[in-house]
Amino acid sequence: MEDRKLNAIFLPHFAPSHIIPIVDVARLFAGRGVTVTIVTTPNNALLFRDSVNHDAALGHNMLIHIIKLPSAQVGLPEGIENFGQCTTPELLEKLYNAVALLQKPYEKFIRDSRPDCIISDMFFPWSVDLADELQVPRVIFYPSNNFFHSVSHSLRLYAPHQEIQSDSEDFLIPGLPDEIRMARSELQDHVKAKTMYGVLINLIKQTESRSYGIILNTCHDIEPAYSDHFKKVSGRKCWNLGPLSLFADRNNVGKENNSSTEEKHSCLSWLDTQKPNSVLYVCFGSMAQFSDAQLTQMALAFEASGHPFVWVVRRKEKSEENQKESWLPEGYEERMLRDNRSLIIMGWAPQVQILDHQAVGGFLSHSGWNSLIEGFTAGLPLISWPLFAEHFYNSKLLTQVLKIGVEIGPRVWNSGIEIKSPLVGKDEFTKAITFHMGGSPEAVEMRRRAEEIGIKAKRATEEGGCSYCDLTALIDDLKACAVDARI
Ligand code: UDP
Repeated sequence: MEDRKLNAIFLPHFAPSHIIPIVDVARLFAGRGVTVTIVTTPNNALLFRDSVNHDAALGHNMLIHIIKLPSAQVGLPEGIENFGQCTTPELLEKLYNAVALLQKPYEKFIRDSRPDCIISDMFFPWSVDLADELQVPRVIFYPSNNFFHSVSHSLRLYAPHQEIQSDSEDFLIPGLPDEIRMARSELQDHVKAKTMYGVLINLIKQTESRSYGIILNTCHDIEPAYSDHFKKVSGRKCWNLGPLSLFADRNNVGKENNSSTEEKHSCLSWLDTQKPNSVLYVCFGSMAQFSDAQLTQMALAFEASGHPFVWVVRRKEKSEENQKESWLPEGYEERMLRDNRSLIIMGWAPQVQILDHQAVGGFLSHSGWNSLIEGFTAGLPLISWPLFAEHFYNSKLLTQVLKIGVEIGPRVWNSGIEIKSPLVGKDEFTKAITFHMGGSPEAVEMRRRAEEIGIKAKRATEEGGCSYCDLTALIDDLKACAVDARI
């Protein structure tokens, strides 16, 4: 094949869980000699500018093209540019509106750039028409896994949730490689009724079938049966390029914007002082917001479990008068935090480094896909408390297929980032943590299986590994398209 430079444009969406992995894909492309341009807004660029500069210094062709978000036009405060920064539904709506206004300037830039291909986040359905107009392949990026897409496909096709009597009853999802059970209360609203979001999801599914192929942040060897299944039912080329956090070596992404360097260092050096596998890491992603009552139950449970922990808490902005964390139980700071028995990080934590640290022996997560695959890569078993989006599906992969985790919580899907499902009490957490961090034969077996998954995930990204080979195949395919287009 002619060895020519491929010119690829990347379009990240506006949430950390989409930006981080698609930028990792861009870095992988650039590492294989592709000229890469990432289109984004000023503040989102700060999230990955360091990595791009780092890679550019290595001689990789990486550029960031910045287009200003039209915040004023929709009444959005300047500087709020991703959904992780939105602490109220009003801000979320304004950001959606501002993002919609970006379509025209994005299209103009892409037309002027004449790329050989467009790697587009799922949330830019319009990019499929633009790719048709420019006669270049459009590859859709899903920051998710084959299991989730396979379950979604079966739900759409067979609608088993419409046959059952109650919301809490388990039902079997037909047409899958394994017997997977869910309850209707765990499904997203748009699966059960017509919603605006459902209209968008249908549109995205249509663009999927018009795309050249699909990139996923997973690896074949973690979920081989679902990787084959989704390829078959989607009828698309699929490239599993994960775990992207490991593959693109993205440590320190987001440093300037989200955390103080001191906080990162202190948390990792604190971990250095802890025994191997002794610490529970607790983080619910970049968006979830809990009530004070729920945070208190967690605080009490972590103390009662007796295990040291690192707990990342995402809080709403505090008013000037109320700077106190009133949900912390009486005397908690003195007992748990002052003598460094455990850590609470208010803000952004260097999650991948924390999970990789030898002191960390368990992970309590909301089952956001990036977090799960980062946990898998570190070879850790998990406690899963699914909250919103597609977390409940991911959690079934963890508990029913891979069997490296336990699930807690009321099994009720939340329609937004504010967690309104019934409170999870202290005892439910404590019981799960005691099992998870303990030495029962079941827990030891789970840990062994998790270590095996970790080995598979790491191998996937090594030369000759499944994700490494998928990356080679994808770039070769795109180069062949570009050569054909020029004949
Ligand atoms: N993350 C992080 N530090 C934090 C919170 C989140 O590095 O304090 C990263 C995490 O490593 C993951 C992403 O943000 O890559 C969160 O994505 P996920 O899909 O797990 O959840 P979401 O944010 O969509 O709820």
